[in-house]
Amino acid sequence: MLTYSLTELSGLLKSRKISSVELTQSYLDRIHQLNPAINAYISTNPEISLNQAKQADSRIAHGMSEPLTGIPVAQKDIFCAEGWTTTCGSKMLSNFISPYDAHIIEKFNQTGAVLLGRTNMDEFAMGSSNETSYFGVVHNPWDLEAVPGGSSGGSAAAVAAGMAPAATGTDTGGSIRQPAALCGITGIKPTYGLVSRFGMIAYASSLDQAGPMARTAEDCALLLNIMAGFDPRDSTSVNRQKEDYTADLNRPLTGLKVGLPKEYFTDGLNPEIAKCIEMSCDILRKEGAILHEISLPNSPIAIPAYYVLASAEASSNLERYDGVRYGYRSPSYHDLTDMYKKTRAEGFGAEVKRRIMIGTYVLSAGYYDAYYIKAQKLRRLIANDFSNAFKEIDVILGPTSPQPAFNIGERNNDPVSMYLSDIYTIAVNLAGLPGLSLPAGFSGQGRPIGIQLIGNYFNEARLLNIAHRYQQVTDWHTRRPAL
Ligand code: GLN
Repeated sequence: MLTYSLTELSGLLKSRKISSVELTQSYLDRIHQLNPAINAYISTNPEISLNQAKQADSRIAHGMSEPLTGIPVAQKDIFCAEGWTTTCGSKMLSNFISPYDAHIIEKFNQTGAVLLGRTNMDEFAMGSSNETSYFGVVHNPWDLEAVPGGSSGGSAAAVAAGMAPAATGTDTGGSIRQPAALCGITGIKPTYGLVSRFGMIAYASSLDQAGPMARTAEDCALLLNIMAGFDPRDSTSVNRQKEDYTADLNRPLTGLKVGLPKEYFTDGLNPEIAKCIEMSCDILRKEGAILHEISLPNSPIAIPAYYVLASAEASSNLERYDGVRYGYRSPSYHDLTDMYKKTRAEGFGAEVKRRIMIGTYVLSAGYYDAYYIKAQKLRRLIANDFSNAFKEIDVILGPTSPQPAFNIGERNNDPVSMYLSDIYTIAVNLAGLPGLSLPAGFSGQGRPIGIQLIGNYFNEARLLNIAHRYQQVTDWHTRRPAL
């Protein structure tokens, strides 16, 4: 049961071969068994989960089920959920119980899904390895010595380890796609504005986007059906017709024009990953796709532009954590200013402080034009590269991460080498485009390798369709770690 897809589970629930209570309990047991070693979850609340499962069972019994009714879903600890601690991986929010639901939590509740638990993440979603969490490092289920990627490392590890059939993530610069790649699962970052950010704790608001993480593209499509949609409470939510992302999953790929950016295939790319991409090109060709080399000339400036902009937005967004209204407050201080200072010094970890300092610096009067405005201009150039490319091709294929999972601790003292983990994912966020990572092989060391598909705005259905066809003729997504 712990290896079934959402479609299979949904069928079993509907035909009442299993109940949601049984299913939820078996996942809770699995979490209980594996979490000490993997640390994918920050918290669970069996009472709330099983209560939701009971309600789902009665809904199913009344013939009122929808595809995800009764399905347990793990939620990244960045989405506010009423009655649940919502920590964002930080000491600052370690005692925060949300009084309200994020938009996507509401949507999962409305469809009768079960909130299985809160997954671990880099503090305030800043990181690429899940090592910055206040709640400890997450271990990659394929190799406990390796990182699971980040910042949605807990979600990726939970799905890979069979500790959840599906999970949510958020992606500001790669945090859905990179951990999906490093853990051998599928994940999609939608077009900016497709999924409401209401109730999702803000890191860099112009880049943040929530999306699904699951074993297969088909499962991601089912989850995206729930998550996508207009919400007036997020001013950047796009009001457009709702799509059924499962409708076109089987569409043939005949004539599909795939672009391979020459800037992605340089010395920085691990040869084992390059080989998986070559093999994937052959598979797509057999399915009828036509492959072209393309150029995204501004790719090398994506990382510096991102770290200026994301840090600037983070410094502003994180101003609200001052110990006054909610969250952590330093236990000893002598006046208000001292309380602010101590609260922020004690409540935030090193990486978050580094981002706040960079952000404050680039936004300060003397440097605003030189850094912040400049980075905004670079952002436009990067988006233009993609628009030009999409005049000739339908989709871009490339690596998700420059290398498979690295070892825990390996990059802790070198933030720049950590920032380079997102070299292939960050430009997609700067342009606001959708990107999907899917499993495409393993390294010699047995660590998963992912490949990335990048689409034009709102082309999620096409990306899921390509990934689904690929998964019909490959079995990488069905492999499981030995646990
Ligand atoms: N690794 C990138 C960062 O640390 C991206 C994180 C994310 O997508 N949330 O900012």
